[in-house]
Amino acid sequence: MNRIRPAAPQLASIEPYDPKYIPADVMISANENPLDVPFEIRREVERAIRKVPFNRYPDPLANELRDMIADANGLERNQVLVGNGGDELLFDMALAFGGPGRTFLNMPPTFSVYVNNAQLTNTSIVNVPRRADFTVDEDAVIERLAQGDIDYTIVTSPNNPTGDKVTGAFVKRMLEASDTLVMVDEAYFEFSRYTARPLLEQFENLVILRTFSKAFSMAGVRLGYLLGSEAALREFKKVRQPYSVDAVSQAIGRVIYENRAKFEPGIDAIIEQRARVIDELNKLPGVTAFDSQANYVLFRFDPEIDASQVWQSLFDAGVLVRDFSRSAGLENCLRVSIGTEAENTRFLDALKQVVVR
Ligand code: PMP
Repeated sequence: MNRIRPAAPQLASIEPYDPKYIPADVMISANENPLDVPFEIRREVERAIRKVPFNRYPDPLANELRDMIADANGLERNQVLVGNGGDELLFDMALAFGGPGRTFLNMPPTFSVYVNNAQLTNTSIVNVPRRADFTVDEDAVIERLAQGDIDYTIVTSPNNPTGDKVTGAFVKRMLEASDTLVMVDEAYFEFSRYTARPLLEQFENLVILRTFSKAFSMAGVRLGYLLGSEAALREFKKVRQPYSVDAVSQAIGRVIYENRAKFEPGIDAIIEQRARVIDELNKLPGVTAFDSQANYVLFRFDPEIDASQVWQSLFDAGVLVRDFSRSAGLENCLRVSIGTEAENTRFLDALKQVVVR
């Protein structure tokens, strides 16, 4: 046959995920940590990998790593679940709590993967848009949850790509409003110093998503985890791929987690550089940077400047940032990840060349 029957109908409107990750001198588009894992930790990682039996299946639930994460968070093993990056756990959420006849509440603009997963699983989407300054419309969200027909919702703190975080008081209101499963996506929480973790004592309908990809410099390895009630995580376990977290990633994860304190100076440096980048951006004519609690900054151009053209000029100068200018609610916006001091300088200098004439 030189043709193929149509795929599942819900795929018709979906584009395959494309992070537009093209090689450049300065890669500051994907919210990665600019520094790789320190050399002495990599040596330890290499020793750990040498001991992994490649011919055996991995521990399906990565129990050793789970126990380390549980201990550090004052939780039981069954309140932690490890995944192949946070992305896998986001997909599992849609599989377990979405589906035909079920509903996801979204707060756009936010991480696009949430909507994709809902579409893939034929889950209805209710949008409660953020305000013009990108803060969550808290009363509208609570009112909508209180109607009782939302099966799951995700609030991102700090939010990607806008950078703002939510308050504990708001998350508590969400958890009290109904029995909806509430995920707080804390992929970037290390840069914000806020976590919903204390609320786990009281609420069974809360799960928290974390990742090794950002603060721990491990985007290339694929490890994420959930903290949550045993009852919620039991449902995730039913839909997950049995061996999604391979033995090498588990071994690497254990070494990295044990050494996690060593990443703190790098996190502090990013937080410091973030203040500098926001400040410098706001000094440029026609540019407004939004405040950020994460390792990236969203910034908008006045209408007389075309953000896509600026993106191209930066790329031509060897600097890759992320273009959001065609995304709903993010018109004329770009996002820059915080790099090393030298990378940030190169970005700011290149941008000045474009906007200051
Ligand atoms: N949540 C948010 C808000 C993100 O930005 C990302 C990474 N782009 C993830 C989750 C997933 O990260 P990973 O799969 O690398 O753990």
